[in-house]
Amino acid sequence: TPVSATDVITDALVELQRRVANLDEGEVASYIPQLATADPHTFGIALTSMGGNHYWSGGVDTPFTLQSVSKPFVYALVLAELGLEEVTRWVGAEPSGEAYNAISLEPNTGRPANAMINAGAIVTTALVPGTDEEERFERILDCLGRFAGRRLDVDERVRASESETGDRNRALAYLMRGAGSLPGRPSGVETYFRQCSVRVTTVDLAVMAATLANGGVNPSTGETVVPEPVAVQVLAVMASCGMYNASGDWLLRVGLPAKSGVSGGLIAASPARFGLAVHSPPLDATGTPVRGVAVLRELSTRFGLHLMRRS
Ligand code: GLN
Repeated sequence: TPVSATDVITDALVELQRRVANLDEGEVASYIPQLATADPHTFGIALTSMGGNHYWSGGVDTPFTLQSVSKPFVYALVLAELGLEEVTRWVGAEPSGEAYNAISLEPNTGRPANAMINAGAIVTTALVPGTDEEERFERILDCLGRFAGRRLDVDERVRASESETGDRNRALAYLMRGAGSLPGRPSGVETYFRQCSVRVTTVDLAVMAATLANGGVNPSTGETVVPEPVAVQVLAVMASCGMYNASGDWLLRVGLPAKSGVSGGLIAASPARFGLAVHSPPLDATGTPVRGVAVLRELSTRFGLHLMRRS
């Protein structure tokens, strides 16, 4: 009997997930105390096609918080609202070559290098239109939900834990405020903490990535979440800056726009093909999920997914 595409993709994910589950390296993030409670063995892979079909293996319904995976989507929101020129006045598009939490600001202007590092993300969050933080956050939550295809909510325990220990991010906000490079008040960093604490599943993340891969149209709901040029701009910055100080190596070895977060989420987008998400909490020294990297490296090699290939 002929094998359907469904079986081929699912079989590949199941086989890979089983094998990579043996990889026992990395540490669960603990600088945000609530994240340290995550089960290091949770491990799921989900893929959403441009036709809105879902494929998965492992535990893909366990909720976890977005953390830095929120950054490309809030960047998309402000690009759609304000346009590339205005956003670029406030945040650049250059790889910083530094860690996600680095004090990495342009010498004269204080402008952060890109929107994928914390400094840049604090700026993009502050750029979200709204009369107060409540309204700004509601816009963010609404937008993240459109990318995922369902209404999302906040893990209040993670938010409180991050706020309690978030002095480095607060310091970044004050530094930028002092340099004139923060469009808003330093207290707006609390909205960034809330955005990082939005709860998702691995399947949600796959749909969110697939929406970017699909030119801004959610393949599950059919909704246009952002205009196509915005989806392209976001993928471009994910490709050059999404993996922080491992971005060059990632583009070399995997060759797909991607974004990771310290709760163990990792998304990758293959334009016009699929969105993929991995969730596994143990992280390497750059704050990247160890198993997520292994999954993407192998899938890219095996299925010839590198962007620089001819097809
Ligand atoms: N909320 C986290 C922080 O600001 C996000 C970092 C990350 O996921 N890399 O430290």
